Amino acid sequence: MAGAPGGGGPGPAAGEPLLQRRDSGQGSPQPPAHGKPQEAFLSGFFTQDQSCPLMLQKTLETNPYVKVLLDAMKHSGCPVNKGRHFSCEDCDGNVSGGFDASASQIVLCQNNIRNQAHMSRVVTHELIHAFDHCRAHVHWFSDVRHLACSEIRAASLSGDCSLLNEIFRLRFGLRRHHQICVRDRAALSIVAVRNISREEAQKAVDDVFESCFNDREPFGRIPHTKMYARYAHRDFQNRDRYYSNI
Ligand SMILES: [Zn+2]
Repeated sequence: MAGAPGGGGPGPAAGEPLLQRRDSGQGSPQPPAHGKPQEAFLSGFFTQDQSCPLMLQKTLETNPYVKVLLDAMKHSGCPVNKGRHFSCEDCDGNVSGGFDASASQIVLCQNNIRNQAHMSRVVTHELIHAFDHCRAHVHWFSDVRHLACSEIRAASLSGDCSLLNEIFRLRFGLRRHHQICVRDRAALSIVAVRNISREEAQKAVDDVFESCFNDREPFGRIPHTKMYARYAHRDFQNRDRYYSNI
């Protein structure tokens, strides 16, 4: 199960109650919803308009950040299947998406995802959680530092904190703005899915920041723009080729 996408693959022990259904850094402190993924999946694809699945399809086919992560998931033994591992749903508040570790599923909030670029950012952010879930024994619920680590990586590597996004949020700032933004958004994401204070969330982020911020797998760099993401994809493919030739 929890082996993330791929169900039955390598990963944390089955039965771990992992549900992280509402985050993506939108900071909405809604409790996680417990639904039946299969029903949600069906309603998402057959009774809503098709824009969510169509945008998802385009993101999976064309976005360079997503291509890196899909290759990395496959390489780590957790191949991603569009029909099985994504679910378009209506969500409360202003959350854009979440990673439901217990169902190995990425929830896409079709009522809040505004456009193609937004869809790509949400899918990238959640795939980083799925990648972490695939490669490590992440204790999403019992150790908030594990969650903090993955949120730091998702905020840093997904483009959530790219300069352009920050300008749109009217936070244009200093040279260190990327790190400040990452700390900020990671803490907001934690508060959105855990019943803890902003201070506690901030402390968890601070505790693990150095090592998690410096862990840039599978990109190997911070992909500030799509161009960097394309380089990262090329490097990842070459890395793969190199290893297979040994
Ligand atoms: Zn997140």
